[in-house]
Amino acid sequence: MPKKFIKNFTIEDASSYFQSIGEKPYRARQLFNWLYEFNVDSFAAMTNFSKTLRAKLDEDFLISPLTLEERLISADGSEKYLFKTHDGHFIESVLIRRDDSNKERTTICISSQIGCPMGCLFCNTARIGYVRNLETAEILDQICQVRRISGIKNDNVVFMGMGEPFLNYDSVMRAAEIMNYSFGFHISVRRITISTCGIIKQIERYIDEKRPYNLAISVNDTIPQRRAQLMPVEKTNPIEKVARLLERKFPATRNRVTLEYVMRSDNIEEQDALRLKKLFRHSKIKINLIRLNQTALRLDPPSNESIEKFVKALEVMNVPITIRKSFGEDIDAACGQLSGKRYDHRIQITQLTKGIFHEQR
Ligand code: SF4
Repeated sequence: MPKKFIKNFTIEDASSYFQSIGEKPYRARQLFNWLYEFNVDSFAAMTNFSKTLRAKLDEDFLISPLTLEERLISADGSEKYLFKTHDGHFIESVLIRRDDSNKERTTICISSQIGCPMGCLFCNTARIGYVRNLETAEILDQICQVRRISGIKNDNVVFMGMGEPFLNYDSVMRAAEIMNYSFGFHISVRRITISTCGIIKQIERYIDEKRPYNLAISVNDTIPQRRAQLMPVEKTNPIEKVARLLERKFPATRNRVTLEYVMRSDNIEEQDALRLKKLFRHSKIKINLIRLNQTALRLDPPSNESIEKFVKALEVMNVPITIRKSFGEDIDAACGQLSGKRYDHRIQITQLTKGIFHEQR
């Protein structure tokens, strides 16, 4: 029988396994400590397990489904990792370091799919197309490997790398649950963010299931036709309906939903601010503004002056607004840029059918 990836296990799965081989269920907690707190990469390192148990685990399981292919370090301190999966595909993770009130905060931005089927015009991952969903083990191993290689224990995790997390709902939720275990990474639910382009059915499921993680929604435009050109999801899941769903169902006791808004030269007029305000006037939100970072054929970055005016116009909403800096521009840190290079053939085909793309996430 082929070996399984042990990082697909929840604590319940691990307890059942240990019981099935005649071991005590508390071994499961010890296993999770080794895998995530001590972040070991071999069963041999699990020294409070007997030799026989270590050999049995080694016979049944593999610890790491990913191998490092490339690591790039930016002048601003962010790091980009390209990993190869066991079946020969590529995914990316980014380590972001930023000073927050004189305390360094570190975030790992992770992927949830190989490629992505959503086709957002500004996204390089879209150019790869959809390959497959990642398994829970592949999601978690990104954090293990980035921590081990960089020597940095991240504070936050964001599902903003390659892929639409809500299209890989079960594996993503399972991974988030494991990240939160106190006998492992022990990352607070308030420090885990799941970012979606706005799939209504899945947002509703997420709310109904009372998932405790932060939710971010990629808005980017409020005019339906213009948003649909950038983000095809608008045609089937209009942002207007997403806003109504949040208004109707998102609990007032929860952390604010983050609205991600990539600022271009043509979406930051006063009218855009007013539409955004009207759309989300009854929802508990905060706004993350990101400046488009490169010039593209059909998308231009805004001027500093127009950004200032837009922010002023948004301030009447009386919600927290942050302007996010793009990290790692010198190392292709936007999602899909590095792995995109490994899928050149597929990208050329996609480019022919979809036109020219801009790289921004
Ligand atoms: S922005 Fe996100 S949802 Fe859109 S294509 Fe890229 S990875 Fe997929």
